Amino acid sequence: MNNYDVNKIKEQFPALNRQVWDKPLVYLDSAASMQKPQQVLESINKNYSFNYSNVHRGLHKLSEEATANYEGARLKISNFMNCNPQEIVFTSGATAAINLIAYSWGTKNLMPDDEIIITIAEHHANIVPWQLVAEQRGAKIIAAKVDPDQDFDSKIIKDLITSKTKIIAFPHVSNVLGTTFPVKEICDIAKKNGVISVVDGCQGIIHEKVDVQDLGCDFYCFSGHKLYGPTGIGVLFGKYNLLEEMPPFLGGGDMIDVVKIEKSTYADPPNRFEAGTPPIVQAIALGEAIDWITNIGIDKISVHEKNVISYGTALLDSISGVNVFGKSPNKTGVVSFTMDCAHSHDIATIIDREGIAVRAGHHCAQPLMDYFNLVSTTRASVGAYSTNEDFDKLAEALVKVKKIFGA
Ligand code: PMP
Repeated sequence: MNNYDVNKIKEQFPALNRQVWDKPLVYLDSAASMQKPQQVLESINKNYSFNYSNVHRGLHKLSEEATANYEGARLKISNFMNCNPQEIVFTSGATAAINLIAYSWGTKNLMPDDEIIITIAEHHANIVPWQLVAEQRGAKIIAAKVDPDQDFDSKIIKDLITSKTKIIAFPHVSNVLGTTFPVKEICDIAKKNGVISVVDGCQGIIHEKVDVQDLGCDFYCFSGHKLYGPTGIGVLFGKYNLLEEMPPFLGGGDMIDVVKIEKSTYADPPNRFEAGTPPIVQAIALGEAIDWITNIGIDKISVHEKNVISYGTALLDSISGVNVFGKSPNKTGVVSFTMDCAHSHDIATIIDREGIAVRAGHHCAQPLMDYFNLVSTTRASVGAYSTNEDFDKLAEALVKVKKIFGA
């Protein structure tokens, strides 16, 4: 994109201008957590320094300001995702959001022998909460297979649906393969079969426009720290009619209507699901991160990142002894690979000395690793600030790894 100035973007990230082991940092670990632009850092500083107080309960100026900023962030996020602000529940992260759905919706609605469809490409955060609720309710988990070199075919889900299916939970984008799932098609299949759709959007909303109305999903979750925002804040989008029918997950202040010793009644969504003091400054800073993204344009970021990923995939694939894992034509965000000569932990440790940050291991996706008989992979992942040169440096470092191992 000729008007996408990646160097100008990079300058806004203090961390990206530091050195590691006396070398300029090459940050290729954005799928684990995105670095933060100055605008977000300033928002955190400002909102703790001058506008800080607890929200909702206060009758003084600072509390009113904090409440307006906190609710303002909800509005920004709802505009970003094209939904009603009442459909945005703040959580501590995607993991907390998925647990909320599993416990609240699942405990109320799942019956013995009911089926929950997931995929083998799931992050553990979209497996374990379903296992916990399935065990409690006597339900079963069914896992759809994935081909790492192909786009995911929604027919695989269609073929798994039975009269017992209650939930389809799947990733927007796989955090290991980078495969983009056909969210709209899967949600449509779910809808036609009276099944609830849950999208783990952690690796999706960071790379492309998400319009929950257009996608037709019932629930969509993500973590703020992967979207240039702070840790400790996550988002659960839920269709209002579903949220309205769901019992609370956590009890305490702010989620109630009336409390009596015998029995309490609860607030309407989203407050019903936000017990206790929420992550106020984190939510506001996530709103600021969304302003930052919107100012550049998520579509431009998306095109830039896809270009970098296809460059990186082709480059790493051209090095003998490097095996790229995951070559779906619709891949985004990550390049996972193994090397014939070295374990992923050795690769990551060696290239760290060159200033290159990548992730190595099972990426919280053990069933995917098991299915493909892999112990681990090394994963390079990108954000709005990543460049082809980052992959050039990675490729050079991998050649050094080969030398060290005599390959
Ligand atoms: N799902 C996916 C696809 C992820 O990549 C991650 C983070 N690695 C999670 C869920 C969990 O996110 P968090 O740890 O921020 O709750």
